Amino acid sequence: MVIKGPKGTHDIISNDIKKWHIIESKLVELMEFYDYCEIRTPIFESTELFLRGVGDTTDIVDKEMYTFLDKGNRSITLRPEGTASVVRAFIEHGGFNEVLPSKFYYIGPMFRYSRPQTGRYRQFHQFGVEVIGSINPYLDGEVLELMMNIFNSLGIKNLNLEINSVGCPKCRPVHKEELKKYLKKNYNELCPTCQVRYEKNPLRIFDCKNEKCQEIINNGPLITDNLCEECNEHFTNVKNYLDMTNVDYTINKKMVRGLDYYTKTAFEITAGREGAQSSIGGGGRYDGLIEELGGPSLPGIGFAIGLERVVLTMEEQGLFDNIPKTKNKVYVANVSDNNIDAAVKLVHELRNNEIIAINDIMSRKLKGQFKYANKIDADYVITIGDDEIANNTYPLKNMITGEQVYYSIDELIKNLRGV
Ligand code: AMP
Repeated sequence: MVIKGPKGTHDIISNDIKKWHIIESKLVELMEFYDYCEIRTPIFESTELFLRGVGDTTDIVDKEMYTFLDKGNRSITLRPEGTASVVRAFIEHGGFNEVLPSKFYYIGPMFRYSRPQTGRYRQFHQFGVEVIGSINPYLDGEVLELMMNIFNSLGIKNLNLEINSVGCPKCRPVHKEELKKYLKKNYNELCPTCQVRYEKNPLRIFDCKNEKCQEIINNGPLITDNLCEECNEHFTNVKNYLDMTNVDYTINKKMVRGLDYYTKTAFEITAGREGAQSSIGGGGRYDGLIEELGGPSLPGIGFAIGLERVVLTMEEQGLFDNIPKTKNKVYVANVSDNNIDAAVKLVHELRNNEIIAINDIMSRKLKGQFKYANKIDADYVITIGDDEIANNTYPLKNMITGEQVYYSIDELIKNLRGV
């Protein structure tokens, strides 16, 4: 019986892994300029972390968590997102005793038990940043500009950044009450899920796909109409930063985002793909989360980008069509079994000089080796026979032009590194 990968997971193999390397190396390079430090947390945590951190009225906690008991009867959950884990690690290691703000980034797999479809997986990868310790609205601006810089640096087109303010614990309850008052009149027309949302978190009704619910909520009061002065001023300054750094955005007064912990700035980004899986990244401020998770009262902000969706978008936009070669690939062929050791030594020498070099490990005849060199797209072939070894000069054949020139090993290295 052939065993297949679990539903909703995918393997990244062959040429696809190159796409991931391109994206990941760009991310790491950019993070250096902004002086953010990588953090690696475990892929599983105590379930309690997400119950408290992600919020128990969210879809994630409601139905999407991979939760199980381990052999010690502890409730464990595969992380559905990165923020709660980063905050947990920050608190656990006393990050608040260090100089603030703490600026983290992470890349890794996340797990959500949702119905798989294009762009939606049960194991997927996120790149994210989290900054803890600053309430300054210009930080929100920096984080947004950084996110857009990532997409721009990868060459992604048709970007649409939507931002909103979802208020704070001062103004949101006021808005919630107003919204509830309005919704009460339409309660019976809401879908069963939204009737639960009405009780627990009526703002989430904006996320409902049901047309009637959308119509009702769209005619209701907006959080932006009820922001307190502090939130209003904060939002103005975030927009100011974006204007100063030429970041395009639109204000979407109806965006609340899926997670409960957001305060003030919330945002989401799409890049031209239609449908429910169109979001390639999103995030926001979470000023109450660090305290909620047992830490001091410190503010935080972050975002996460879905890397599968970035890959999909870049494929659709043709951004992987002409990946330039950065190094020569050389195949070293041996004419007969007598020349294998010489081939091994030459390959070893080439690799030590940062040249991609391969030789036969399938005991192929010379003709078969040439065929293989073609298949793996070798730029050059060096064929070693008894004469080459005796004379210590080697024929370097350019596989595109067919031109062949004899060189000593030193000259070979010089020529091959000259790309
Ligand atoms: P969220 O943590 O829900 O704000 O998601 C942040 C980003 O992760 C989204 O914009 C998506 O690009 C990506 N994402 C979320 N859930 C999935 C999933 N199930 N499969 C693939 N990507 C996802």
